[in-house]
Amino acid sequence: MDTFIWDRNFITGLADVDRQHHELVDLFNELNHSLFHGSDTGAAELEAIFQRLLAYAAMHFADEEALMTDAGLDARHQHSHRHLHQQFVEQVRSMWALRHTLRQPAETIMGFLTAWLGLHILGIDQSMARQLAAIQAGTPAVDAFDHETRDTDQGTQALLKMVGNLYHVLAEQNNDLVAANQQLESRVAARTRDLAAANDQLQVANQQLQAFSRTDGLLRIHNRAYFDERLLEEVARARRQAQPLAILMMDVDFFKRYNDTYGHQAGDACLQAVARAVGSVVKRRTDFLARYGGEELVALLPNTPGDGAVLLAQRVVDAVRAVGLAHAASDVAPVVTLSIGAASAVPEVAGDAEAGVQLLAQADAALYQAKHQGRNRVVLG
Ligand code: GH3
Ligand code: MG
Ligand code: MG
Repeated sequence: MDTFIWDRNFITGLADVDRQHHELVDLFNELNHSLFHGSDTGAAELEAIFQRLLAYAAMHFADEEALMTDAGLDARHQHSHRHLHQQFVEQVRSMWALRHTLRQPAETIMGFLTAWLGLHILGIDQSMARQLAAIQAGTPAVDAFDHETRDTDQGTQALLKMVGNLYHVLAEQNNDLVAANQQLESRVAARTRDLAAANDQLQVANQQLQAFSRTDGLLRIHNRAYFDERLLEEVARARRQAQPLAILMMDVDFFKRYNDTYGHQAGDACLQAVARAVGSVVKRRTDFLARYGGEELVALLPNTPGDGAVLLAQRVVDAVRAVGLAHAASDVAPVVTLSIGAASAVPEVAGDAEAGVQLLAQADAALYQAKHQGRNRVVLG
């Protein structure tokens, strides 16, 4: 943008006013230069120039307003003149504050400043000067004001006023637009945050739902459905890695009699105690414990050969017996005991489902044998 050139039409004849206008024009040009050419002008420095300009404008306005009051200028003129000063300060301040969001901040700000100052001096300041001169020559203030509105170049005055108004409207709209844009951006940001939070909550809810759908309500261990899913996965993995996968089928001994003796609620509590005891032994991160159904539990032990499976199963049997839950109706011990059928194999038959069923059947047959051989024991199938 070009330098703001002082024009002789700006001269009002009021020495102090003209000097201050000159000073304002110089400050405008300094800011203009820094905005357009001063690529090395720091933000703080630019801010300082702007604040200096604003302070000077405020001081100049106050001087002008004091001059009008002292001379007793018509109240109507004083009112509209003050109003323009005030508008200028507000608009230029908000434009500056929002300059980072303007598309062309330097052009917009300098365009507003120069157009405003030019119009202001040519228009209302010249009118003020003429009224002051008339009052000094003895014309009453009211007449001087009326003369302004009646006898001066009406066309030019109207045009100046209109263009001035147009500038204010445009400046206001620009500020509104910028403010609306900022509001929109912050609303979009807030909405994005809300969505992200809702998404997180949904994910947590999904995880809870999934955990819930995989858990047995009574025993708080995995349920049958999840066991079926995991059996397939573990068979596939064991096949890939050519590692043995072991299964333990566990069944409480004489549990029907337990229920008959102590009642169903005591039976439930007994199963919970048994599940806890089993869980305290089957606890490797890769081990998987589930309720197979009724009073039967099942464990999947990846990378575990037959002897390892038997060792662990025996520890389970010992742990359950060690709980020491009285079972007066049992033929095998005075306390609750467990029988386990173990099986371990590297999957060989085609199909993971088939291999899984085979391994399960093997463990089941072993469990049948354990029951047959007297219960409270482990049999490897
Ligand atoms: P065995 O030593 O041969 O296994 O004898 P058992 O009585 O334990 O065998 P059976 O499978 O015939 O009986 C299982 C009983 O477990 C039958 C059923 O009433 C009981 N039962 C199954 N699920 C639950 C349960 O959730 N709570 C209770 N309290 N009892 C259950
Ligand atoms: Mg049973
Ligand atoms: Mg049983």
